[in-house]
Amino acid sequence: MLTIPIYDTILLPDVTFYFKKEVIEDWNVEELEVGDVIAFAMLREDIDIDAATLEDIYPIGASARIDSIDAEGNVKVRTIERISIMDLTRDADGTIESEVVSRPEINDMDADELKERFEKLKSKFLKFVQNYQWGLWARGFILQWKNVNELACSMTGYFSVTWEEKYEIVEVDSQKERFELIEHMCYSFMELADVAENAELEQQARNESIYREDAIKKQIEILQRELDEMHPENISDVRRFEMAITESGMNEIAEKEARKVLNRMKQEGQDGHEYGMLYDYLDFVTSLSWKNEEYVPIDLNKAEEILDKEHYGLKKVKSRIIQQLAVMALNKKQSGSILLFVGAPGTGKTSIGQSIAEALGRKYVRISLGGVRDEAEIRGHRRTYIGAMPGRIMEGMKRSGASNPVMVLDEVDKLVRDYGGDPSSALLEVLDPEQNNSFTDHYMNVPYDLSNVLFVCTANSTDTIPEPLLNRMEIIEFPGYTATEKFQIAKKHLIPKAMKATGIRRKNMTVTDTAIKAIISDYTMESGVRGLKKQIETVMRYGAVQLVKGNNEKISVKPANLREFIGHRGISHDIIDKKSIPGVVTGLAWTMAGGEILFIETKTVHGSGKITITGQLGDVMKESVEIAISLVKDMYPVETRNISKYDLHVHVPEGAVPKDGPSAGITIVTALTSLFTGKAVDPRIAMTGEISLRGNVMPIGGLPEKLMAAVRAGVKTVYIPEKNVEDLEDVADEVKKELKIIPVKKIKEVIDQVM
Ligand code: ADP
Repeated sequence: MLTIPIYDTILLPDVTFYFKKEVIEDWNVEELEVGDVIAFAMLREDIDIDAATLEDIYPIGASARIDSIDAEGNVKVRTIERISIMDLTRDADGTIESEVVSRPEINDMDADELKERFEKLKSKFLKFVQNYQWGLWARGFILQWKNVNELACSMTGYFSVTWEEKYEIVEVDSQKERFELIEHMCYSFMELADVAENAELEQQARNESIYREDAIKKQIEILQRELDEMHPENISDVRRFEMAITESGMNEIAEKEARKVLNRMKQEGQDGHEYGMLYDYLDFVTSLSWKNEEYVPIDLNKAEEILDKEHYGLKKVKSRIIQQLAVMALNKKQSGSILLFVGAPGTGKTSIGQSIAEALGRKYVRISLGGVRDEAEIRGHRRTYIGAMPGRIMEGMKRSGASNPVMVLDEVDKLVRDYGGDPSSALLEVLDPEQNNSFTDHYMNVPYDLSNVLFVCTANSTDTIPEPLLNRMEIIEFPGYTATEKFQIAKKHLIPKAMKATGIRRKNMTVTDTAIKAIISDYTMESGVRGLKKQIETVMRYGAVQLVKGNNEKISVKPANLREFIGHRGISHDIIDKKSIPGVVTGLAWTMAGGEILFIETKTVHGSGKITITGQLGDVMKESVEIAISLVKDMYPVETRNISKYDLHVHVPEGAVPKDGPSAGITIVTALTSLFTGKAVDPRIAMTGEISLRGNVMPIGGLPEKLMAAVRAGVKTVYIPEKNVEDLEDVADEVKKELKIIPVKKIKEVIDQVM
């Protein structure tokens, strides 16, 4: 019999099947005619009909008659009976023929009972589908079932049992057993579907309540906001912080911590004794800027203009700053190398930092690190401490109100290392681009991104800055100003600013050029312009009083009346009126305040060859003095033969930076020589240079500062080590013009010339 293997359907008698034309085409059958009887065999798995063999099919199938073929070629068949398929052969054209034997079922069920139970099952189905959206469609489908076999064949796809178990429905011979099998599968199907439906309904209900809760919360929020707007004075701290946290844009970790603290604050209530601490914390973190500031292109020409507008001179410094900005512009970055401005007080280090911020259109914040001795001052105290506070860095960030300010860290050379930990190592972390994108202040306890901050450090000297910190920074030197530069700074910047600050109009007061010069030379003695600024402000304040009292309509400040304004006597230039005394020689030192002159004094008294050093002490100084004595004994054996009958006293005024100690070497030798030979040295001759045991003059540091100090003090001639001649390039022409500078290689050259 012509045999068609089919998959995914069970075959029972008295069931109508419809096959679409496309399916029929797969059967490889030449022609089908109404009335043809064919066999259907059930495939065990989904394989190609062309490849199917006897092993691939279940032993029992069904015979069927073709009922009709419509105009499009779709076929309707009705099954007749169950058959056993004994053998398969494949014809040359690919069609399958098989040997079949009919397999009658055992009619062990009463026809009425069968009908009754079938109708009951059907009505159960009809009731079941009512609860579903697709129920209407399913109803039409169910009403078409004429017998339980039709029900089984159309429902097989929905039974959640294995294919083998489904085949059992076909296999059983007993009508009753089959019915029970089908019934059982139908009930479990409906049961399962109901459980799933219930679960789904429950989930839906749960979701609905979540949505509802959200909606209610939103509604409350809106109403609360409206109320807040109506009565801003009534907004509770908790509410305010809740809003501030949401709006701050803080990172996930920070937000989690803030909400945790907020919850504690809620529980604590206003009277709780931790309330204040929690309040402070939230107030702090919500006032920080958490925004990721966009990079704004840098306009170098404008930057140059701004730097020039605010600061006179400083050509080298400005060009180095512009280079830095150019590198940042090329990298499209908000930060770059960390600049370290080194120079005496009042040389413009901090204020140019402010100009950089202005040039970049960014916020400016200054943090003073002078005297910071506790690591916690940089990195904050843990909140477990009573009175814990954030560190200065984060406190500065808060003050700046931005996440990318220009931050000037003032006086990094004045950090102190002691029992409180090492603040410089904390600072290192702040400045390290590898780490500072998640800087964690102990107080905040959550990371904050400092990588967009442009750091600028200032120091008076690099001596006390720890090496690792120094290595991170690019040093830019601020050498101090000459008298001419100071004059220009006063005229162009300090006086106009001071006038503005005191509210004095230009037409009411003038300071003559000669008066400005007099303030510089007679009332200040410094590398920078801080003192000058103070004196000018004093002059302005006095002028303001005069103007308000109406004593004068127009005030003119001249050298003649300067003292009236400043109120005290100028600095006396003791060099000028200092007499030449044997044993006293003028030296030059490099101090925190820039350069300075100093007098090295030596003296002998009757005694037993004891050596006393006063003023600047330490091993370095002791060594310098010992070398000097050896040299002098060597050069002047006659003059120094009685030295053991005297006590020698050497006084080197302190103040110089420790590193500069040895540079007094040639001055000490000269002073001792002068003492023993009794020949005085003109105080207007100054000198600086380290000395070797052989009498060689060795190079020193800080030459520009020292020479400027010499000019300020009225020195006329300066001896410098020959090896420092190169440094003269950095010395202002104006200074070189004022001084006779004599480079020397040997101490003997100095002694021969000055005595
Ligand atoms: P520093 O930080 O080096 O101690 P500041 O930046 O505080 O010095 O400068 C002190 C004062 O002198 C400031 O008011 C500053 O504006 C002014 N000042 C310093 N250098 C200049 C300069 N080159 N041109 C104009 N003003 C200057």
